[in-house]
Amino acid sequence: MKISKKDALLWFRFFAELPEGEQLSPRQTELREAVLTQIEDAADARCDALRREIPGLRSLDGRTFFVGPEDRFPRGCRSCLTGTGLTAIRRTNRCNLRCPFCYDYGVWDEQPPIGEGYWEIGGSRYRASDVPLLLRVSRRPTGVSYVYLEPFMEIERYEEIIRAFHEGGVHQHMYTNGTLCTEENLRMLGEAGLDELRFNLGASGTADRVIDSIALAKRFIPRVGIETPMTPEFYAQFHEKKDRILRSGADFMNCAELHLTPNNAVNYEGEPLYMARRGYISPVWSHELTLRLMREAAEEGWPLLVHDCCNRTKLARDLHLRAQEGGWFGASSYGCEFGEIPYSLFLPVLEDESFRFVEEEELPPGYRVGDIVI
Ligand code: SF4
Repeated sequence: MKISKKDALLWFRFFAELPEGEQLSPRQTELREAVLTQIEDAADARCDALRREIPGLRSLDGRTFFVGPEDRFPRGCRSCLTGTGLTAIRRTNRCNLRCPFCYDYGVWDEQPPIGEGYWEIGGSRYRASDVPLLLRVSRRPTGVSYVYLEPFMEIERYEEIIRAFHEGGVHQHMYTNGTLCTEENLRMLGEAGLDELRFNLGASGTADRVIDSIALAKRFIPRVGIETPMTPEFYAQFHEKKDRILRSGADFMNCAELHLTPNNAVNYEGEPLYMARRGYISPVWSHELTLRLMREAAEEGWPLLVHDCCNRTKLARDLHLRAQEGGWFGASSYGCEFGEIPYSLFLPVLEDESFRFVEEEELPPGYRVGDIVI
């Protein structure tokens, strides 16, 4: 059912008015699905056209795309996409910034503490001294990552656990907004054995100080990169400081496709959104900005690798993870972050005249606006 944009808008306006929790009838559900597919097809077609313009585009085992020197492909991503998975380690429950794109937007102060002296690994809590036991008994991960909020809020606590994983020969990467980095703490991380540090450069508005910290980190940590959600603000800031960033010595840039959660969605109302494989909901411009940047990087031969960490990559990651866990064919932990489809969030893309559906046809009888749709 290739529903027209006009009919799609009428139906989604109607669905957006329904009381919360009201279930759609089977035919209304078909209409909903047809609309989401039409939007997704249109968004995919725009990205396919942009992708065709990128010279030298390569894929990592069919799971993700990149341009640039392959030896700089982040090992943490390789582990996530082809190894044992992301294996997130969590401790810090605070951040010093307040980014509009943060998945924890507005709920920063509600993040539960892990507990004094403890680390959350695989959903359970351990002490750093338990790492040798974990590595002996469990299946050894190809890599682990320190994720969630801002580790530099208490970076001195990370030394012991990084040493423990380093001694166990496990690759480790960490995410930071970079604003609290100093020569002293970067040196400590490098000496403890951190393999890879990723800067969310967009978090600080691409601050000069953070670009300088990228260069500083390169003196102590083997691999240093940028990982930030692609937004128009970051795209503009990046170009203002492009030379300085490219000279920083960063090995790679992971362009994350921004996706919305019930927390940060409030900051993107009015933007054109699509839903990728019935999972993440993202502004259509986010992936497009990545592809534009990749073309620029490939045409100009940037020294760093640029990686397209889009929703499809997240789908590949989660499929791979379930396959590793022995899941059945097609099993995936990838899904939608919203409990119900947020119909009103899709109205702007349906109202946007510059966003065109690839193909449209008239609705069959029984599905038209004005029909009794059962
Ligand atoms: S720096 Fe990271 S954790 Fe902190 S507010 Fe920004 S996105 Fe959230």
